[in-house]
Amino acid sequence: MKSGKLVQGKKVAEFEKQFAKYCGSKYAIAVSSGTSALHCSLYAIGIKQGDEIITSPFTFVATANAILLANGTPKFVDIDKGTLCLDSQKLEKAINKKTKAIIAVSLYGMPYDQNINQIAKKHGIKVIEDAAQAFGSKVENKKCGNLADLTAFSFYPTKNITSGEGGMITTNNKNHAELCRRFRDHGQSQIRYAYHDIGNNYRMTEIAAVIGLNQLKKAEKMINQRIKNAKTFNQKLKNIKDIALPKIPTNIRHSFNQFTIRTKKRAQVQKHLLKRAIQTGVYYPKSLHLYPHFQKFGYRKGDFPIAEEASKEVLSIPVHPELKKSEIEKIVKEIQTICKN
Ligand SMILES: *Cc1c(COP(=O)(O)O)cnc(C)c1O
Repeated sequence: MKSGKLVQGKKVAEFEKQFAKYCGSKYAIAVSSGTSALHCSLYAIGIKQGDEIITSPFTFVATANAILLANGTPKFVDIDKGTLCLDSQKLEKAINKKTKAIIAVSLYGMPYDQNINQIAKKHGIKVIEDAAQAFGSKVENKKCGNLADLTAFSFYPTKNITSGEGGMITTNNKNHAELCRRFRDHGQSQIRYAYHDIGNNYRMTEIAAVIGLNQLKKAEKMINQRIKNAKTFNQKLKNIKDIALPKIPTNIRHSFNQFTIRTKKRAQVQKHLLKRAIQTGVYYPKSLHLYPHFQKFGYRKGDFPIAEEASKEVLSIPVHPELKKSEIEKIVKEIQTICKN
């Protein structure tokens, strides 16, 4: 604060540098939120009115709202039953001449299906990863942030690392990076008042960057703790018939922003846990195509059966790095109790 430069100064530059290093990407551009990171990414690839962008209907609303903010048309494709991420096998049917990009969401920390990259390449379209929930996840040795053409991260307090509010875009493409930088700062490049195009105020403050830098230092420790907690849950809950646990392929590092079980007894389980002061979350209670501002594109109930079914069964239990051993034991015990009945 004493530096007098409270926005987009040395600390933001340092956060970008360290973040790019962590992800293994060439460029990182700090912004004000995950939503603005998605909007900048869509701007960078030149989305125009009428362009179609394929995404999952089973995600946080910001993924699809960003498409509307960029004047694009959201085109939903159903998810895979196992990963709950976009199903690459259903993708090609949805691609046409208007398709410009795919926003692949790495839900709960599960990296999106890498077959999507090949399909996109074949059709000459771009892949943007929504990695708001997947900071620290990996496919083989490659981190999220280095898998797609552009990746959008969020530092909202519920994510793997936070800066209060904040976001980041990573890319290996110099031109994309430059367009993101310009769009976040009113369409200006290095020279002030040299407006090249429409822009926005999506800048990050120095205060947010300092919080982010400190979080980055602790990131590996926090993520490893999440993974450890998830492993304990997977071991202790595996014999309960009424619940399905997340299955993670061996080449994947899942950073467990959420530990999400599936159960047909969701309401009952959630109510029981809440009575014992165990908070759970439903991410997400309704598939996006069933909300009015997306339904107007012609979507109907039944269009995406896997997403619709998942929205009735998913339940995320606490997995954060501050969980105590005794708390994990209590959660396991209470789930066992309710699921026996
Ligand atoms: C949190 C989140 C966002 C939005 O991030 P904000 O920082 O809240 O704007 C976008 N997509 C997904 C999948 C998210 O979980």
